[in-house]
Amino acid sequence: MKRLSIAIALFGGMWLAVIVPAEAAPCLIVTLTGTQSGPSVFNGLAGAGTLVRYGDDSNDCAAMKLQFDAGRGTNMRLSQINVTPVQLNVVFFTHMHGDHTEGFADIMMLRWYSKGPKIDIVCSSDATSVLGVTNSCRKFVMHIADAFLQSGEIAQRRSEDNTLVAGGPVDLTNVITFDPKAEPEVVWSSGDVKVSAIRSTHTAGHASYRVDTPAGSVVIGGDAGNDVLKPPRASSTSDQVEKLAKGVDIIVHSAFHPVLGPDMGSGFPPLAYYRQSLASDLGAMAKRVGAKHLMLTHLGPSLGAAIHNRWKVPGGPLTEADYRKEVEAGGFNGNIIVGTDLASLRLPAKK
Ligand SMILES: [Zn+2]
Repeated sequence: MKRLSIAIALFGGMWLAVIVPAEAAPCLIVTLTGTQSGPSVFNGLAGAGTLVRYGDDSNDCAAMKLQFDAGRGTNMRLSQINVTPVQLNVVFFTHMHGDHTEGFADIMMLRWYSKGPKIDIVCSSDATSVLGVTNSCRKFVMHIADAFLQSGEIAQRRSEDNTLVAGGPVDLTNVITFDPKAEPEVVWSSGDVKVSAIRSTHTAGHASYRVDTPAGSVVIGGDAGNDVLKPPRASSTSDQVEKLAKGVDIIVHSAFHPVLGPDMGSGFPPLAYYRQSLASDLGAMAKRVGAKHLMLTHLGPSLGAAIHNRWKVPGGPLTEADYRKEVEAGGFNGNIIVGTDLASLRLPAKK
C-alpha cells in the first residue's frame, strides 16, 4: 500500500517540493479477546481468544484480521474495538475445549445475519484420545447453528428477509483441516501473512500456531503443555511450541501459577494442572527462543479470584505481580504482559 510523502527535487535549476509515493510501514496488533481459563465465569472475563490484526499505517494495522479461538464473549470484546464478525478473515482453533469455542456460534450467527461472506475456519482434523473420545472441529463447525435451525430462528429471519443464506451460518464456513505434526507446517496464508501450525499436547488434536508478517511474528500457544504429562520432566512447556517460537517477537500463551499445584492443597485436579504450562517455565522458554514479548493469557487462577473454577485458591487471590515474579524467575527479562481482556501489543511500537 502506498502513501504520499514530500520530497525536494532540483528541476530546471529550481528547487521544487514534489509529492512522491512511499511505502506505508507494515504493522501488527495482537489483542487478547478473552483471558478466562476453564469452564467457569469470573468477573465478566471473556473466554480464551486472541485477535491478530495486520496492515500498515494507512489502515491502522487492520487490513487483515485473524481470530485464534473464540471463547464465551469474544463477539462482545471485538465490538469494544470496533471489529465486527463480518470483518474477520479467518478463525483458527487450538482445540475443542468449550472455553475456547463457546463464542463461535455467536460470531457466526451475527456474520450470517449481517450477510457476511464465507470465512475460512482452520483447525486440526478429527483426533481420538487415549480414552477413545474423538474431538472433531469439522463436526463442531458443521453443526454450529443447529440449535437455531431447530428453534425456527433461521427460518423466521429468512421469512422476513429471503436474501439471507438458506442453510444459516454453516453455509458461510469453509473448513480447512490439517494433521498437526511435530514440525511446523504452513496451514493458511494470504498476501504477506503466513500461518504455521505444530502439534502440541493438551487434548487430542491440540495445535499451536505462528503468524509471520513483514511487521513481526507471534506464536499462539493455546493451552499447550509438555508431552511428558507429569514430573519429573525438564519443563511444563511444549518442546514443539518452543520449536515453533524460535526467534519469534511475541508469545501468547495460557499460563498457570504453581499455587494450583497438587502439593498446595487446592484440590485442583493434577491432570488438568500438569497439561498446562507454568508461568515460570514460559519465562524460561521465552528467554531461550529470544522472544521480545510474553503475553500470559487464560490465567489459572484469574487475577483477583478466590476460587478457580470450583477450587479455592490457596493463600487467597493472586495479583499481576505474582505472575510477573514467576516469569522473571524463569529468567525472562523482555516485556511481560499479564493478560486481561483487550490487552494489546503493537509491532512496531507506536512512536
Ligand atoms: Zn482452555
